[in-house]
Amino acid sequence: MSTLTPARLLSQAENLCQQRNVRLTPQRLEVLRLMAIQPGAISAYDLLDLLRESEPQAKPPTIYRALDFLLEQGFIHRVESTNSYLVCHHFEEPMHTSAMLICNRCGAVNEKHAEGIEQILQSVAKQSGFTLRHSVIEAHGLCEQCGEVEACSDHGDCHHDHSEPQGKKRGR
Ligand SMILES: [Zn+2]
Ligand SMILES: [Zn+2]
Ligand SMILES: [Zn+2]
Repeated sequence: MSTLTPARLLSQAENLCQQRNVRLTPQRLEVLRLMAIQPGAISAYDLLDLLRESEPQAKPPTIYRALDFLLEQGFIHRVESTNSYLVCHHFEEPMHTSAMLICNRCGAVNEKHAEGIEQILQSVAKQSGFTLRHSVIEAHGLCEQCGEVEACSDHGDCHHDHSEPQGKKRGR
């Protein structure tokens, strides 16, 4: 999976909007930029806090309108089960199926291409006469680091942080 730098991602989004003749306003661009520099998924309210640093008058509808636009353009994905949003790194394939690997311990979300699954979904859809456009698969578990920490029994004598991560929901 190729991971684009935030600068490349933004210029790609600008180009696509020009091609599609839709307006990527400075505000929408700023929301996308803030998302692009996040290590993982972010909630709308955390995003609003970040946006208020440059636009103190921003309100929840400001964020939701920008998010709706970005979702429509396929630049971001919504992670339903954690109610957060994630920048997509595959702008050039607006109809791809992605698998979201969501860590229950630290909340990290990793988007992976799910080609085999895509084929299965396509054939299931076809049988029902359904035109599949976009689907997101959400898988919960433990990321590599958290898996290591959970598997470790050497508490105190290791380099891990065994405390409960702050502010994140765990378990499901
Ligand atoms: Zn994607
Ligand atoms: Zn984790
Ligand atoms: Zn440990």
